[in-house]
Amino acid sequence: MILREGTLPMADCIFCDIVSGKIPARKVFEDDDVVAFRDANPAAPIHILVVPRTHIPTLNDVPEGDPLVCHMADVARKIARDLGIAESGYRFFINVNREGGQVIFHLHAHVVAGYDVGTFFIHTGIAASILWRKLLGLFSRGEG
Ligand code: AMP
Ligand code: ZN
Repeated sequence: MILREGTLPMADCIFCDIVSGKIPARKVFEDDDVVAFRDANPAAPIHILVVPRTHIPTLNDVPEGDPLVCHMADVARKIARDLGIAESGYRFFINVNREGGQVIFHLHAHVVAGYDVGTFFIHTGIAASILWRKLLGLFSRGEG
């Protein structure tokens, strides 16, 4: 149990409302410290959010050495094993503040696996660029 005494749910926080049960969510795991549920707008077939019960706005607000983030990673690993994606692979990340892509200011970690449009375009972009450089190399050698 990592939850600190005196931490109250924040008004107008959607994740505090999910933690308290005011707003429904498709939960996949919960314990004394975190709740994990399916993202409402998944970026991939598997997209889970691991959310501490405590209202902490961002990763920057977690005290140094605090066990909470480690626990969130432990929960993500367990969920990955349960969903059968531990070996095939998944992404585990935390968006921090506006320019880090954070939209909801209650700390949460994403667990994403499966077909992901963003990753697909990054990988095809890299592959196309490698191919293009190889072709250019072949042509320039042919000229000489
Ligand atoms: P972030 O950009 O890191 O703040 O991520 C916020 C995530 O919360 C987004 O992926 C949203 O799709 C997701 N989200 C927003 N509202 C809900 C909700 N009511 N239930 C589940 N996921 C949500
Ligand atoms: Zn909150």
